[in-house]
Amino acid sequence: MKPIEKHTIGMGDRFARQGQAQLAAVCRAHEEGIGVFPVWNKSNREHTIVGSHPDDLRAEADAAVAALGWQRPYYVDADHIGLATVDRFLAASDFFTIDVAEAIGKPAAADRHAAALKALGPLMGAIDVPGLPGGLRIDFATAEQTVAKFLPAAEEAGRIFRHIAAHRHDEEFVTEVSMDETDAAQTPEQLFVILKLLADEGIPLQTIAPKFTGRFNKGVDYVGDLAAFQREFEADLCVLAFARDRFGLPATLKLSVHSGSDKFSLYPVIKKLLRRHDAGVHVKTAGTTWLEELIGLAESDGEPLALAKEIYAQALDHYAELTAPYATVIDIDMRRLPTAADVAGWSADGYVSALRHVPSCPAYNPHFRQLLHVAFKVAAKKGAQYFKALEEHAAVVSRNVTDNLLDRHIRPIFG
Ligand SMILES: [Zn+2]
Repeated sequence: MKPIEKHTIGMGDRFARQGQAQLAAVCRAHEEGIGVFPVWNKSNREHTIVGSHPDDLRAEADAAVAALGWQRPYYVDADHIGLATVDRFLAASDFFTIDVAEAIGKPAAADRHAAALKALGPLMGAIDVPGLPGGLRIDFATAEQTVAKFLPAAEEAGRIFRHIAAHRHDEEFVTEVSMDETDAAQTPEQLFVILKLLADEGIPLQTIAPKFTGRFNKGVDYVGDLAAFQREFEADLCVLAFARDRFGLPATLKLSVHSGSDKFSLYPVIKKLLRRHDAGVHVKTAGTTWLEELIGLAESDGEPLALAKEIYAQALDHYAELTAPYATVIDIDMRRLPTAADVAGWSADGYVSALRHVPSCPAYNPHFRQLLHVAFKVAAKKGAQYFKALEEHAAVVSRNVTDNLLDRHIRPIFG
């Protein structure tokens, strides 16, 4: 096991061009006394769409670290992997996000189910959890249902963890288990039982990504009941701290918040609760770096602005195809999307202010932003033309990437 730092930020970069600009934000945070550590993450789905390989992400991270002289820890995360996809990540990654959402609710072997339920015996009844008003109450029905639902997922996590460990030899790594891409948020009681099941699998779990209440749409703010989120997040922090000692899980165990970019209304809540409970967190941001590239191109006016406009026009043309894989994590009202002709008439400032995530700006358009968020395939198809534009306007693009990460994410969460 490679022990992870208390505060870490997951950074995605679709086209692997902004590693230095991202790391620059982390360096500036350290200069300000904010001890946050970088994790570069990319999922198999994303590699497949863009046509990249996990080794490319390792190369990007190592190059950024060398260029900026970063001497502190950093990680490369194989994001949302399973048994079928993990192999090509084994050499390049030292952080593995084991996604077991698909195994939730699958049938488990009867003897395994009975054994897991028996092991929960001593935990049944009322449990006093420090910091959690009312504590936890695990009755037989809750234990039974939770084991039935999550045991297959815990077993699958165990299989994947052992597969990684067997192939990484002596090389240490961080293990995360994610259950965020599923339909229902897990209750604190369920989380407690899940942690027990994962501990029994012998997984040195350091980060866990539950599904939280509310909508975590890609690249836009949280939609949901803030008070409910606060109660849930605080209960989860208490359960984690308690389960860590009780089940012998690593002292570094912490929550991981997926689709964590742009959740501006949650950041003050998360920040306050981390402080109150002296807790760590991993916040995973992903595809929004590519939107900063578009903003940088638009800001540069002239030809690069025309390219940004053309990408939007093609995104509109391929609306159904681009949005289908993300149907559960975007909410686009098509009536609020500008037409290609509208956008063709926009100034650089018009494009930038519609896209940049400044909720107080009247021109900001979350529908326009969400469509472009999932439209990176259009830029990938442009290939050399897109990359050349990024190179020619690297200064303005990287300023946007760095500022977005530092001003709108790192400072509000960890500052
Ligand atoms: Zn996720």
